[in-house]
Amino acid sequence: MPSDCVFCRIAAGEIDGRILFQDDQATAFWDIHPVAPIHILIIPNKHIRSVNELDVEDEALIGHLFTVAGRIAREQGVAEAGYRLTINTGPNAGQSVYHIHLHLMAGKALPIHLG
Ligand code: 5GP
Ligand code: ZN
Repeated sequence: MPSDCVFCRIAAGEIDGRILFQDDQATAFWDIHPVAPIHILIIPNKHIRSVNELDVEDEALIGHLFTVAGRIAREQGVAEAGYRLTINTGPNAGQSVYHIHLHLMAGKALPIHLG
């Protein structure tokens, strides 16, 4: 675990990330600067920098992030109204934390934007 990775430290419980779900593969916590009424980050516990570093062996793990996302959406009561799942990759997408993460944003009509 890279000690300088804030998301590794949240998953390890070293710093408070307001965790709302954790299992042996993934951790979900509230984004510190929410852009929607519900803004949750879902990460693999394993440190993977970005989509660029994904390997075939990570496919089940990444799939699990989406299963967790769906479960959280149902628990938060936004599954039917809708939500957005986003993964930013690299500078032009605005990736600021280099530990792969799935944004779950919900709770209002989200602006349609092209990237
Ligand atoms: P990115 O821009 O890399 O796709 O998203 C990084 C997200 O992580 C941002 O939405 C930012 O608000 C969130 N974030 C950055 N540092 C922390 C932190 O220490 N704790 C939490 N809970 N979220 C963070
Ligand atoms: Zn990490």
